[in-house]
Amino acid sequence: MQVISIRPRGFCPGVARAIQLVEQALSDPSVKRPVYILGMIVHNAHVVRDLEKKGAITLDEPGKTRLELLDSISHGTVVITAHGASLEVLDQIKAKGLDLIDATCKDVYRTHDAIKKHLQSNEQVLFIGKRHHPETEAILAISSKIILIDPSEPSFRFAIDEQPVYVTNQTTLSQVELERIFNQLRQMAPDLLIENELCDSTRIRQAAILAHNQAVDLCYIVGDPRSNNTRSLVELSIEKTHTPTYLIENVADINPRDLVNVKRVSVSSGASTPPTLTEEVIDFLRHYSKEDQ
Ligand code: SF4
Repeated sequence: MQVISIRPRGFCPGVARAIQLVEQALSDPSVKRPVYILGMIVHNAHVVRDLEKKGAITLDEPGKTRLELLDSISHGTVVITAHGASLEVLDQIKAKGLDLIDATCKDVYRTHDAIKKHLQSNEQVLFIGKRHHPETEAILAISSKIILIDPSEPSFRFAIDEQPVYVTNQTTLSQVELERIFNQLRQMAPDLLIENELCDSTRIRQAAILAHNQAVDLCYIVGDPRSNNTRSLVELSIEKTHTPTYLIENVADINPRDLVNVKRVSVSSGASTPPTLTEEVIDFLRHYSKEDQ
C-alpha cells in the first residue's frame, strides 16, 4: 500500500503560539497561579491533557459561555484561547483583578478589526460561522447588529437594515461550504462586499488535500472532532475529490476493514493536531500488510 503524507499539515502558527504561551507561563514562577485556560486552548484533547499534566487548568463546561466560566475563579492568571474572546470577557478578567495572557491568533484579530471598521461606517455585517464556536461567539459579541449565517444549517434568512452590506467569515471554514454560501448571497443581493477571511493556514492545508486526493482510494484526517479546521478538511476531501475520508483521533481509530483493497492512502491532519499522532498513523500504514486484515 502506498502512503501519501500530505503537507503542509498539523500545527499552524496560531496554534503553536498559543501552546508556547501557556508553556512559558507554566515554567515562569513569576506568573500568578493557578494558570487557567478559558476553554480548550486549541480544539485537541491531547494538547489539553498535555498542558494539564504540566499544571494548567482548563475551564470548559458544555453549554457555558466564556463569561460564565469566569464566575468560578477569583485569582490567578487567565489565558484567552487562539479562538479569541469578547471585550466583555477581557473587561471581566480585569475587573476581577486576574492576570491575562492573550493567545488569540492574529488572523482572528484581523477579522475582528475588519468587522469593527465596517460597523463604524454604519454598514450591515453578515458573519458566516459555526454557531456556538468560540470564534463566532467572540465576533457576535462585538455588536448585536451582526447577523450570523451558519453554513451547517439548512437555510438562512435575513433582513438588510443598512447599506452597504459587508460579508465575512470564520477563519477555519471549508472553502467549499464558504463558496456555496457566497454564491447564495450574491444571488440574493448582488452588491454585497465579500471578504473571504479564511486564514492562510486553513487555505494551504485545504489546497494540499485537493492536490493529493485526486487519485487515492482512502484518506485519513487526524484530529479532534471538535476542531472546525479538521472537520473542514474532511468535508472538502469528500465533496471535492469524492475520496472516502475518515476523521480519526489517533492510530487506534484505524479500522482494518477500511483498508481492504486500498492501494493508495493519504494522510493529513488538522491545524491543532500534535505531529506525533499523525506520524504514528503514517508509520502504522507504511508497515501494514494484507496479512494484518
Ligand atoms: S487555524 Fe488559522 S485562525 Fe486558527 S489559530 Fe491557526 S492560523 Fe490562526
